[in-house]
Amino acid sequence: MRILIIGAGISGLAAALALARKGHEVRVAERADGLHEVGAGLQLGPNAMRALGELGVAEAVAAAGQAPQAITLRDGRSARDILKIPLGDAALRRWGARYVAVHRADLVAILHAALEALQPGALVTGCAIERIDADRAEAMSADGQTLRADLIIGADGIRSQVRAQLFGADAARFTGHVAWRALVEVAKDDPAAPPAGVGAWLGPRRHAVTYRVRPGLVNFVGVIEQADWREEGWNLPGDPDRLRAAFAGWGAITRLLARVDQPLRWGLHDRKPMRAWHRGRA
Ligand SMILES: Cc1cc2nc3c(=O)[nH]c(=O)nc-3n(C[C@H](O)[C@H](O)[C@H](O)COP(=O)(O)OP(=O)(O)OC[C@H]3O[C@@H](n4cnc5c(N)ncnc54)[C@H](O)[C@@H]3O)c2cc1C
Repeated sequence: MRILIIGAGISGLAAALALARKGHEVRVAERADGLHEVGAGLQLGPNAMRALGELGVAEAVAAAGQAPQAITLRDGRSARDILKIPLGDAALRRWGARYVAVHRADLVAILHAALEALQPGALVTGCAIERIDADRAEAMSADGQTLRADLIIGADGIRSQVRAQLFGADAARFTGHVAWRALVEVAKDDPAAPPAGVGAWLGPRRHAVTYRVRPGLVNFVGVIEQADWREEGWNLPGDPDRLRAAFAGWGAITRLLARVDQPLRWGLHDRKPMRAWHRGRA
């Protein structure tokens, strides 16, 4: 089949690669004018690594990322360990696959390279889809093109246009949590470097997560409760002093945040589960 996939995020590229490996002719329409270094760290649990193994890219992803040896839950202020989940070889033994932390941009680049090797030119960037016709499997782009296929897959993120057109608009629900994110370069024996592995640092109405996504590059996420969220977007700049104030007196986290000058904020949203996943040929 000729399959048009809308959106070249993690799910769009993964779907394209899976379908191309089955011999389908895929095209991925992406609104952005290129695959930029967006996002930050991702933790890929063994279930995700197993799926990436099926796509033939697990080795490349593991090589690009870091293999934490444990997840440690700690009290944020005292740094006292609360719970430790062993990873590394223990993850392999327990779940049959590795646990990997990776930069989102590296994962996206690996998925894209594998797709490009199978079907060169499958990704079309600068192509924002405005409207689809689910019965005819046609998509109309903002610049007036009509893309025809046998099947359309919407992989256009949490504010999906495809979903809204198939099932009606329904706003994503703000969860009351805002994720503050930063990537921090640390040297070996750096006093600002948090302990190795994945650290989850817990406190009242907030928590922080730290792990390395590349050698010397720590991904920080601080999730803070917030009453409302009116802004749109993935990459809103945040006030570093506000972030530091939220985690003042948190030892390792306070030291790490002293190095952060431009954190980004994401309002975390979710949606109700869908009753149906398709209509017509979309
Ligand atoms: C703070 C935070 C931390 C997270 N941490 C983790 C983690 O540790 N591990 C994990 O597995 N997940 C994590 N996630 C979740 C993960 O980031 C998402 O599940 C994932 O990015 C969703 O992928 P996607 O391909 O569905 O959407 P996206 O990555 O949003 O991609 C959608 C793509 O569609 C494009 N697009 C949108 N509209 C159109 C249009 N009309 N026409 C053409 N293209 C369009 C967009 O430009 C974009 O490239 C985290 C998320 C957040 C916010």
